Formats: sequence, structure tokens, C-alpha cells
Amino acid sequence: MREKTSCYHLSPNHIRGIKSMMAKLLLIDDEKRLRENLRVLLESEGYSVDTASNGAEGIQYLEQGPYDIVITDVMMNDVNGFQVMDHISTHTPDTLVIVITGFASTDSVIEALRQGAYDYIAKPFDIDIILISLERALEKIKLRNQVKQYTEDLEVRVAERTASLQQLNAQLHDEIAERRRTEEALREAKEIAEIANQLKGEFLATVSHELRTPMNGVIGMSGLLLDTPLSEEQAEYARTIRQCSESLMGIISDILDLSSIETGKLEFDVLDFDLHSTVEDVIQLLMPQAQRKGLDIAATIQADVPRRVFGDPGRLRQVLTNLIGNAVKFTDRGEVGVTVKRVEAASTEVVAHFIITDTGIGIPRDAQSKLFQMFSQVDGSPSRKHGGTGLGLAISKKLTEMMGGEIGVESVPGQGSTFWFTARFSKLPPMA
Ligand code: ADP
Repeated sequence: MREKTSCYHLSPNHIRGIKSMMAKLLLIDDEKRLRENLRVLLESEGYSVDTASNGAEGIQYLEQGPYDIVITDVMMNDVNGFQVMDHISTHTPDTLVIVITGFASTDSVIEALRQGAYDYIAKPFDIDIILISLERALEKIKLRNQVKQYTEDLEVRVAERTASLQQLNAQLHDEIAERRRTEEALREAKEIAEIANQLKGEFLATVSHELRTPMNGVIGMSGLLLDTPLSEEQAEYARTIRQCSESLMGIISDILDLSSIETGKLEFDVLDFDLHSTVEDVIQLLMPQAQRKGLDIAATIQADVPRRVFGDPGRLRQVLTNLIGNAVKFTDRGEVGVTVKRVEAASTEVVAHFIITDTGIGIPRDAQSKLFQMFSQVDGSPSRKHGGTGLGLAISKKLTEMMGGEIGVESVPGQGSTFWFTARFSKLPPMA
């Protein structure tokens, strides 16, 4: 064990180097020799040391600048070590205090530690102990500075992150506001478009309705004209007038139907009617047209299809006329077949399946999916052979939907087409 050395007999061999930092020390002691010896030693170790001979002088030094470490005697006349510590804890709390106490002065050590002293050295002391205490104090200062630095860095990073989050938040805010404005504009545009569409529908309905009255006059009058004695040439002209006005009337009716469907104003009757006769009537009506082309229309209505049902015979006739009429129109040889089957039957209602086949020109696959859209024609060219508006199938689709059914097509170009639809009819009269 090393022999305890009095501070009055300090040997340079005892001095250990502390080169880690240029620490600033204040040494306060009223014993001049001790003060001076210690100062020389500490300076030779790389410390920057100021000395004060009493507490009051020490406080004056402290007021001029901060010190890393203060080594102070406790018992001094006038201002003592405790008062110096008081000053430090109030003004420079980061400064570490090492107190020098008289040998075996336990009470003052306890009091100093309680007041926040970092360490104590009892007189007569060993320079090694002072150096070790200083080293530890320096280590503590270093760690504390690191923590401080780390905390500051962290605060900077948190501040940066907060700023960028705030910026992002502001951006998001702007984007949401922008999106809201766009949505609002879209909603307004949609409302305007809906109103315009509604007005357009109403206008179309009114115009086509108004057109029907004079057209009825033209059809009626050309009929009457044909009943009068006419030359062959005049009769031919009158027949052409009647045909053209009938086909114009068909187009007007289609437009009226479509606009009524669009504006939700299409009227649907529920009447007691004969399903078989309705199908047969349509075939009868179209038979002359088919025969003119050398075609036959073969009809099969299966026996389990009920005759008497409740629904709108006019709308059913309209869909059948369109599909059978198209079959005749787009077929030049072979035949047109109409089959009616029962798909579903309950005590209260029946679903009928209507199938119209032809051996006509057929429809290319890519055109089939668009057929039921408005104004869709496979051959839309001005030079096309068959007339029409391209509205018939779109109307038929809406009507079958209104009859609780579906519509579809299968077709092979050059071989023929099969159009089908289903419709739901009640077996009971509607409730009053
Ligand atoms: P259009 O009044 O022009 O006949 P539709 O909506 O009834 O209008 O039919 C649309 C188009 O579908 C027709 O122009 C025709 O090209 C095609 N099409 C409809 N039925 C048949 C069919 N049976 N065979 C061949 N093509 C057809």
C-alpha cells in the first residue's frame, strides 16, 4: 500500500497526467502553502487553476466566470465553504465541488455532501487521491456534457421532424381542401348535367309526342286516299307515303319510349291477357313481311306455358315485334323460329323464356356486347342495306328489365342469331 503523503511533501512522482481536457479549476483555501503547492501540481497536470485565499474572494472569482471544478476548504474565517457551495448551487449549478475538510471532521463532510458536494478530501491528503477525485469529476463532466449534447441533438432532431411533420400536415390539409373543392365542383357539374339530361328527356318526349299527332293525320289520310279511285301511279305514290310515314312513326315512338324510360315516365299496364295469342298475333303481323322474302316463321309455344297471365301485353308485343322483326329483316333465306318455354312457375307467377332464332347474316362477336346500347348498329355506314335507328334493342332491354327479366344474344356470323329474353308475369290480378 502506498504511504499517505502530506500535501506539504508532495513528490512529482505522485503526479499523474490528466490530459483529457483543459479543465478550469478554482482552489479556495486559507492555507497559503497548501494552496500554492497544489496549484503548481495541478497546473503541471494540465489544469488551468485560479486560487483564492478565502470564501469571499472565491465568490468574486466565481462571479467572473464559470469553473468546471471548485476545490474549497470548508472551515474558513468570514465566508466559509458552505456559503461558497450555496453561491455555486444558485448561480452555476453545473460546477462540481470537491471540499477539503480537516482530518476526522465527519460532520462537516456529511453536511457538504448533503449540500451537493461531489466529493471530499480529508487533510492531510494524498495527491493521488486528489488526482483520482479530479479524474472522476472530469469523467462525470464529460458524461454530463455528452448527455447534454445528445439531448440537444435529440431536441434539434425532434424539432426538425416536428417541422417536417407540420409541413406534411399542412400539405395534406391543402390537398384535402383541394380535393373537397374538386368534389364540390364535380357534384355541381353532375347536378347540372342531370338537370340538363332531364330537360333533354322532357324536350324529346314533348317533341315526339307532338310529332305523333300530325303523323297520325298523314298515315290516316294516305289510307283514305288509297281507298279512293286512283291511277296505278297515284296509288303507288300514296302507298309509299303511307309506308314512309309508318316507318317515321315507328322511329318517333322509339324515341318517345326511350325518353320516357330515361325520365322514369314509361307507363306500364297490368292487364289480364292471353300470352299465347299475343305471340301469335305478332307472328301474324310480321308474316307478310317474311313471306315477301320467302321466309317462314315457325312458332312453338310449349303446353305448360299458361295462357292467362297478368302483365303489359303491349310492352311484350313491342319486344317480340322488335326481335322477330329484326330476325326477318336480317335473314334472306332459311327460316325464323319463335319458341316460348316456361322456366319457373309458382302458384302466383310464371317466368317465360322467349327464343327467336334466325338463319340470317349473324353478328360479329365484338359487336354483340354493344348491341343493347342505344344507337348501336353493326353496320352503321350510310350505305347499309337495312334501315333502323339502333334503338330497338336498347328499348327491348329496358322493357324486359321492367318485366323482371333479362335479354341476350348468341350469334355466329354468316350462320344466324338467337335472341332470347325472359319475362315475369303474375298469375293473379293486381291488388287494388
Ligand atoms: P335497328 O332499328 O337498327 O334494327 P336494333 O336496336 O333493333 O336497331 O338493332 C341494332 C342492330 O343490331 C341492327 O342494326 C343490326 O345491325 C343488329 N341486329 C339486330 N338483330 C339482328 C339479327 N337478328 N341478325 C343480325 N343483326 C341483327
